[in-house]
Amino acid sequence: MSLAHNTEPIRPIKGSQSPIMLKAVLFDLDDTLIDWSPFSHDQWESMETRRLSRVISHFRDSGHPLSDEHAFKSEFMLRTTKAWNEASQYLRAPHIGNVMMEAAAAVGVPASLLDTDTVMRAYDWNIADGIGLFPEVPEVLGILRDAGIKVGIVTNAYQPMWMRDVELATLGVLDYFPHCRISAADVGFLKPHPHIFETALASIGTEASETVFVGDDPTADMVGAKKVGMRAVYRPNVRRPHAELEVTPDGTITSLHDLLNLLDGWYPGWRKTSAGVTR
Ligand SMILES: [Mg+2]
Repeated sequence: MSLAHNTEPIRPIKGSQSPIMLKAVLFDLDDTLIDWSPFSHDQWESMETRRLSRVISHFRDSGHPLSDEHAFKSEFMLRTTKAWNEASQYLRAPHIGNVMMEAAAAVGVPASLLDTDTVMRAYDWNIADGIGLFPEVPEVLGILRDAGIKVGIVTNAYQPMWMRDVELATLGVLDYFPHCRISAADVGFLKPHPHIFETALASIGTEASETVFVGDDPTADMVGAKKVGMRAVYRPNVRRPHAELEVTPDGTITSLHDLLNLLDGWYPGWRKTSAGVTR
């Protein structure tokens, strides 16, 4: 039989399988790419009050008086806390839009004004004052992109991703993540639930073995990523130090520059671009 008619599948010669190549790096967002250390709880409260005041103005402009501002704000805060407490028991993600609609309904806003998207645009989430990326983030994202490595974000935010995208755009890094930006609020599950990681892998189009995860949370990020078969790199959170780790991370870093060194050890040659240039 000539080779042209050989329909046998090509089998790799035993022992000659190609090494697994790095194809993607997935990042947690808060305290991994965005540095929240300059931000205080008091700042959060005053920012939240301003955002909720914009929602109240929206309801009033739409014809509902909403006479008790304080009741609405406290309903929202209490329901947010309750939603997170319930969510963490079952890893079912809360959604800020649902919490907002329930709080508004509880103080008498009629159903005709409870369009989640419209109300959340009035809330006008944006980047918190004084917050920025860790300084090395743009450079490292650029090195990964130039080497053909896809990058993505998987966050336990209760905001849908379109809201967090506003921050990424303001920080100038939205365009680095065209394939995969996943918020727990959209997926319905919180890390470490495997579903949110599997959704991210499907979205970025790589296998777990070809993908590295970087995060600051020992449970949500490290346990979750390892459970689905990814290498997990730990960036300890300077704001909320964790005393004990449930699993041993594959690597620990203090800067994303250290991540590049880890990748050099695990995937020799990954920096070579398709043009043969080493970054
Ligand atoms: Mg985090």
